[in-house]
Amino acid sequence: ELRATTAAWTGPAATSDGVRVKLLANVADPASARAATEEPVEGVGLFRTELSFLDRPTEPTTAEQAELYKAVFAPYAEAGHHVVVRTLDAGSDKPIAFATHEGEENPALGVRGLRLAADNPGLLTHQLDAVAEAAASTGVEAWVMAPMVATRDEAEAFAEQVHARGLKAGAMVEVPAVAVLAHRVLEVVDFLSIGTNDLTQYTMAADRLASDLAHLTDPWQPAVLHLVAITAAAGQQAGKPVGVCGEAAADPLLACALVGMGITSLSMAPSAVRAVGAQLARVTAEQCREAADAVLGAVDPTAARAAARAVLVD
Ligand code: PEP
Ligand code: MG
Repeated sequence: ELRATTAAWTGPAATSDGVRVKLLANVADPASARAATEEPVEGVGLFRTELSFLDRPTEPTTAEQAELYKAVFAPYAEAGHHVVVRTLDAGSDKPIAFATHEGEENPALGVRGLRLAADNPGLLTHQLDAVAEAAASTGVEAWVMAPMVATRDEAEAFAEQVHARGLKAGAMVEVPAVAVLAHRVLEVVDFLSIGTNDLTQYTMAADRLASDLAHLTDPWQPAVLHLVAITAAAGQQAGKPVGVCGEAAADPLLACALVGMGITSLSMAPSAVRAVGAQLARVTAEQCREAADAVLGAVDPTAARAAARAVLVD
C-alpha cells in the first residue's frame, strides 16, 4: 500500500495539512538535469559543477562553462524553476587536476572548495561570469552557493561577487563553525544549504569515505541534527531559506524531522523524490515538529530513528 501511494504521488510537496516544502534535484551535468525533470521537482537544489571537470587537465574557458551551464539550466526555464549552482568543490574526495593543492597531509582539512579562490581568484570569477551569462540567456533564476565556507567574512566576500552579477548568493553549511554562527552568516547571504555529508564528517571527525566509520558518518547522529536545527532556526529568524542538500534529505523519515526543524527545501537524488514527497503527505506539520523534538532528544542514531518512527509511522 505504501508503494502504491508513493507511485501515485505527483507533487508539489506538502504535509497533509498543507505546509509546503520544496523538493529539488541534485544534478551533475546536462543529462542528469534533464532527467530530473521527469520527477516532480521544483528545480535544482545542488548542481555539482566540479563533476563535469573531473577529467579536465586545464580550466575550461568561461565560454565553455557558459555552454555547459546553459544546457543544465534550459530544462528549468519553462516551468520558472530556479537552479542552485555550487561553485567548484575541488579537493579532497573530488580532486580536480587544475585546482587541487598538491602535497597536503589532510586534504579534507586543506585548501578545497571556496578556499581555492584565495590564491586563484580567476577560478571563481570565470565561473561566476559563466553562470551569469547562462542565467541571462536562458532566463532561469540562478542561485549561486559556495562549498566549504567556514567564516562570515568568507561568505561576505563571496556574496559581494555574486551580487555584483545580479544573482542570489548562498553558503553551504558543511563546516560546524558556520552552523553554530548561522545567524551571523545569514546577515551577508540570501540563503543557506546544509551539506549533511560533509557536516557529518566534520562534526564527527570521521572520514566520509571510511566504511569502517559508517556508524559515525550517519546523518541521524544527534550532534549533527542539533547543528541542523540551529541553522534552520537562524533561517526562520532571518526570514531566509535554509535547505538541506546532503543525503539526509533523501531519507523520508529524516526529511520529516528536518521540515519540523524549519528546513524549507530538500534537495536529493531524483530517484528519492517520490518516496520523500509521499511520506511528507502522510504526516502533519505538528508531527514533523514532534519528530524534530524526538530526534534532538535521542542519545544516538538508533534511538533517533526509533523516536522518529514512533511519531511518524507507528
Ligand atoms: C554535502 O557535503 O553534503 C554535499 C551536499 O556536498 P558533496 O556531497 O558534494 O560534498
Ligand atoms: Mg560537501
